[in-house]
Amino acid sequence: MILPVTLYGDPVLRKVTPDIDKDYPNLDALIENMFETMYHAEGVGLAAPQVGLNIRLFVADATILADEDPQLKDFKKAVINPQIIERNDEFESMEEGCLSIPGIREDVSRPTKIRIQYYDENWNFHDETYDGFAARVIQHEYDHLDGKMFVDHCSMLRKRFLKGKLTNIAKGKIRVPYQVRPPRK
Ligand code: ZN
Repeated sequence: MILPVTLYGDPVLRKVTPDIDKDYPNLDALIENMFETMYHAEGVGLAAPQVGLNIRLFVADATILADEDPQLKDFKKAVINPQIIERNDEFESMEEGCLSIPGIREDVSRPTKIRIQYYDENWNFHDETYDGFAARVIQHEYDHLDGKMFVDHCSMLRKRFLKGKLTNIAKGKIRVPYQVRPPRK
């Protein structure tokens, strides 16, 4: 089932999400729906707040880019209760976009390598290190779980430049080729 995607301006995108436990209702169906929603919108990652849920969960699938980056061959995952426990000191800038901020793409500087601990959809524990595009996707989605969005990383000047566009998104004055939930105040 395709879920409506929340847009910039929706307060659910600004909350620090709490962990969930194994009793969380219909988790398998939710994860399946999040993957379906992400594929439909042609994204490579989708965090729970982007479907209106204040919980610590995201999905990602960048296997489509495996030709350019062989590391991404198996990079399809549901990530539950993640904690990034290490970030390296080296930063790299790369253009990012977000299904909750349609029509805007900006360069974002992030650490090139991270170490993350999380549970998968079968509640197996993982402690893994990522670099390259995988590290970028993880950090972008992880930000969503802490109430942050990629435009927060932009310079004051860029933010000022983007203000009009962001205001229009927050008012729902945009056209997007996937289902969205107009921001609630
Ligand atoms: Zn995003």
